[in-house]
Amino acid sequence: MRILITGGAGFLGSHLCERLLNEGHEVICLDNLFTGTKRNIHHLLDNRNFEWMRHDVVDGFKCEVDQIYNLACPASPVHYQYNAIKTIKTSVMGAINCLGLAKRTNARIFQASTSEVYGDPHVHPQNEEYWGNVNTIGLRACYDEGKRCAETLFFDYHRQNGVDIRVIRIFNTYGPRMMVNDGRVVSNFIVQALKGDPITIYGDGSQTRSFCYVDDLIDGFVRMMNQSETVGPVNLGNPVEFTMKELADLVVEITGSNSEIVHKPLPADDPKQRRPDIEKATKYLGWEPKVQLAEGLKSTIDYFSKIL
Ligand code: NAD
Ligand code: UDP
Repeated sequence: MRILITGGAGFLGSHLCERLLNEGHEVICLDNLFTGTKRNIHHLLDNRNFEWMRHDVVDGFKCEVDQIYNLACPASPVHYQYNAIKTIKTSVMGAINCLGLAKRTNARIFQASTSEVYGDPHVHPQNEEYWGNVNTIGLRACYDEGKRCAETLFFDYHRQNGVDIRVIRIFNTYGPRMMVNDGRVVSNFIVQALKGDPITIYGDGSQTRSFCYVDDLIDGFVRMMNQSETVGPVNLGNPVEFTMKELADLVVEITGSNSEIVHKPLPADDPKQRRPDIEKATKYLGWEPKVQLAEGLKSTIDYFSKIL
């Protein structure tokens, strides 16, 4: 198949490009390099089945494809809040442009949605039936509401135009190829520990997240795209929950770092807890994560040790 990946030069996108090329597909990677980098796809440039184009999903584009994975959107709070209006445009206009392309080419189209659609959740763990608790005017809304609107567009194109959609909601995922300045918690703690800088816990560190290793997640992507049982939304994430304090302690232990732990103010609207209910992923995709946090952290730490 010929497969388009928007945001293909980013952290998740570059792993997906690699996986689909290994399966023998042709891959077109479209990226404006806002948070992605050519370094992430450098090793793929010699592959005759790989093409990349610098383009912004906010502007329309044409190509003939069989499948589309729509990943274009900054994912770290630091980066998506840098230009909030652009973040909403990327999610909403990007979805409209990709869905228009899918409609014209009859391509199946996949949306990388997010656990952020649940906001600061009142239901725990979060299942797909929960409608969420998002502050529509807060600092995270540019991302949360952009992604929620994208989901709405996907389901409206599906109902109204018969577009063949697949929607997943990704919970915190980490691994090699996150940027050093990504700003998300796993890469921040690892980079700080390796440099001997203070490890910055926001708030008292009792807030929780569930961390999925990138290889597990990409396997879930491909399973979701290539099954016909459900269009989604389906949660993909690791159901084991950690506090940020536990994560910091684990990173210090594995790196053997002398870094001290310091506390900084908790950002506005920071969700207090987050853990996926993955019953649907297990039922429809036969999927569950295999990599434990300590194991995944080790390979991520190896990656950062090499590039720092
Ligand atoms: P990332 O920031 O590394 O990748 C995003 C990619 O999209 C980058 O290469 C960036 O340059 C590109 N991009 C951004 N705006 C664009 C635009 N207007 N036009 C074209 N390209 C654009 O983040 P990631 O972690 O790889 O996330 C990929 C997708 O998965 C995102 O849509 C994100 O919302 C979603 N997601 C990720 C996580 C996670 O934990 N990693 C969790 C939930 C959802
Ligand atoms: N966080 C932290 N220190 C950091 C970066 C993040 O304590 O250096 C916290 C953040 O406040 C949040 C959690 O870690 O509670 C996860 O943050 P991240 O930005 O990775 O993603 P989120 O799940 O909030 O989108």
